[in-house]
Amino acid sequence: MNELFPEEGLSKTEVIEALQSRRQNDLRSDGRAFAFAYDAGADVREVAREAFSACMGINGLDPTVYPSARTLENELVGACLAHLRAPDGAVGTATAGGTESIMLAVKTARDYARKTRPEVSEPEMLLPVSAHASFHKAAHYFGVKVVPVELDPQTMRADVDDARRKIGDNTILVCGSATSYSHGKIDPIAELAALAHAHGALMHVDACIGGWVLPFQRELGIEQPAFDFTVEGVTSISMDLHKYAFAPKGVSVLLQRRRELRDAQYYACAKWTGYAIVNSTKLGSKSLAGLGAAWALLRFIGRARYREMVKQMWEAKDKVLAAVQAIDDLRVVGDPDMGLIALATEVGDLWQLADRLAARGWFVQPTYHYGVSPAHIHLQIDPGNAACIDTFNDDLAAAMQGLPARQEAPAAVVQMLEAVVSGEDAASAGVSPAALMAQLGVVDGRLPEQTALIHRVLDAASPPLRERLLGLFVGELFNGTL
Ligand SMILES: *Cc1c(COP(=O)(O)O)cnc(C)c1O
Repeated sequence: MNELFPEEGLSKTEVIEALQSRRQNDLRSDGRAFAFAYDAGADVREVAREAFSACMGINGLDPTVYPSARTLENELVGACLAHLRAPDGAVGTATAGGTESIMLAVKTARDYARKTRPEVSEPEMLLPVSAHASFHKAAHYFGVKVVPVELDPQTMRADVDDARRKIGDNTILVCGSATSYSHGKIDPIAELAALAHAHGALMHVDACIGGWVLPFQRELGIEQPAFDFTVEGVTSISMDLHKYAFAPKGVSVLLQRRRELRDAQYYACAKWTGYAIVNSTKLGSKSLAGLGAAWALLRFIGRARYREMVKQMWEAKDKVLAAVQAIDDLRVVGDPDMGLIALATEVGDLWQLADRLAARGWFVQPTYHYGVSPAHIHLQIDPGNAACIDTFNDDLAAAMQGLPARQEAPAAVVQMLEAVVSGEDAASAGVSPAALMAQLGVVDGRLPEQTALIHRVLDAASPPLRERLLGLFVGELFNGTL
């Protein structure tokens, strides 16, 4: 008999305790995690939890039988439109996350071009190499070709001249970020949007991570380039509420300048024996729990407290920048427009630095080199991090003391990786996914305490090899055993 699915049900206490025990090694939102977690404190979590459970049973599939689905979404989207200074006539949709918002923006561009520019047979989108991976995922799903736009190596912003050279008759969409995830930079949105407009293409601004924060920074008097609907030519913007609005995971918005654009986002189907559908998002049946929590948090937190938290995060970012300046062989890549920091070293071993920070209880995100962007440690600051940023800066300085020099990835392991992912029949040579995982120190799908070797090998590998190795690894994690 399967222990998870007993013949007779257990008590609520037993079940919840068992559930909690499985969560004990999860990343904690205690100010020490510089990625994944966005936390504004216990009172905010509490309100989110109650609102989430109050809305859990709303099925967004049909707003005529759940009128609250319509009201809550209209109100939430309305607040987001105002936040990004949308003109009259702009509309939006609540989605399950940034990836979904971006996928729908790409689908909109494709279907809108099919209708208005039927001569385009091979649709392309201009995409800065700093743009989030979900754009590539969308391109892959929807059959749109990605034309990469290079970055200015100093500022890490999209190079408008490169975009100008590459835009063409097949361009249906130009993309930019506000800000980018890795370097926290706002792309030259006005220039990109003008270029898009001149070529009859749509312009999407990915404000998934920055959209909620940047308007408050502006209110605080922090100078930054415009990125929102006040920029002519911007046709859509994605903004996550499950990041810096502090809602639980599962809520973002896609805002469209005109309703006609959103029509191209919808999907309707009456070609089957069941109920006829029209879906604004990828999901069919969908819980409005996350949306309800976001709706509640906007009211509970209020503008003043959001602004105050944005101020704290900005100041914490400045403190890290100042601390890094005082440390030899450590630098910030570019000059971030918000609390997203890429730390790089020239001489020292970046991956051992990450391990040293982990040993001191800090969770940071090791990130590999790509194009002009060097390998770096990613830090994303939330109010919890801001509250203990001085301790972090002290630990960062200490971890840099006597940091060993950068090491090359062991050639034997890289070769093994190449052999495993190329599917060479090398059983005789002892080459298998399991042997590779063992070489990297991965046991039972668990990463070793020292992860430097793994990151060194992945950074040395080509991007396609990285992709294949990640696939192998996740396959090992979900191999059907416990
Ligand atoms: C987080 C993020 C996304 C999408 O992420 P989800 O994890 O799907 O919410 C897209 N763009 C940027 C810049 C992001 O930071």
